Amino acid sequence: MLNEVNTSTMTSKQRSFRDKYRNQVQGWYNGLLHVSIIYATGFLLLAYFFLNLNNVVFIEYSIIPITFLFCNFFEWLLHKEVMHKPRNFPGARAIYTRHTLQHHQFFTEKEMRFASANDYRVTFFPPYALIVFSIIGILPAGILYFIFTSNVAWLFLITTTSMYLIYETMHYCCHIEDNFLVRNFPFINTLRRHHMAHHDQKIMVKKNMNLTFPIADWFFNTSDVKRSLLGTLLNGYSKKYIK
Ligand SMILES: [Zn+2]
Ligand SMILES: [Zn+2]
Repeated sequence: MLNEVNTSTMTSKQRSFRDKYRNQVQGWYNGLLHVSIIYATGFLLLAYFFLNLNNVVFIEYSIIPITFLFCNFFEWLLHKEVMHKPRNFPGARAIYTRHTLQHHQFFTEKEMRFASANDYRVTFFPPYALIVFSIIGILPAGILYFIFTSNVAWLFLITTTSMYLIYETMHYCCHIEDNFLVRNFPFINTLRRHHMAHHDQKIMVKKNMNLTFPIADWFFNTSDVKRSLLGTLLNGYSKKYIK
């Protein structure tokens, strides 16, 4: 991992926030264990959902793109209306604190990188978040089961869980050192620039709210680039179309 003390251009305010935050992370915290639990839970859930599929017919797969789009808009809404605004329903204030008051102070457009795996604490959701999202998913899955088929319900859960893992993975890719792979990998390179711009505290409450693919940002005109949907999705590191 990099030595941020020597190479970073972050402000002294960000540096002192990082020091303070790291000092209050409990000694037993292990970043690699945190991430392993998230992916192990995710893949176990996916395996369970897949095992329940039974002779899927082609039309049933149409729930996948519909759910994909639903998740994209949900992610945009959650980020804009809960992660950046202090709300009063259960858990909302903790999500706001963790994201706006911690994640956005720890990482700014001047310094987006983790210095070690211990910094994963301020980026990945807590491991139980996936369980909470899965429990929330039971109600729409149940409705899909009664209206359509069990396969449609399981495919819905497969897509929501996959999107959760994609979210965590792509957000992780935004906070690592630049390298050949992330610079050239379609969608990941787009999100890295998109999310780095979002970390500018002057625009964080209104621009670039997607954390996977900037589809809802394009749709609601909250992207900082002015391009077609395809151009926005495949923008990469380009700053040519910034409004
Ligand atoms: Zn971030
Ligand atoms: Zn944010």
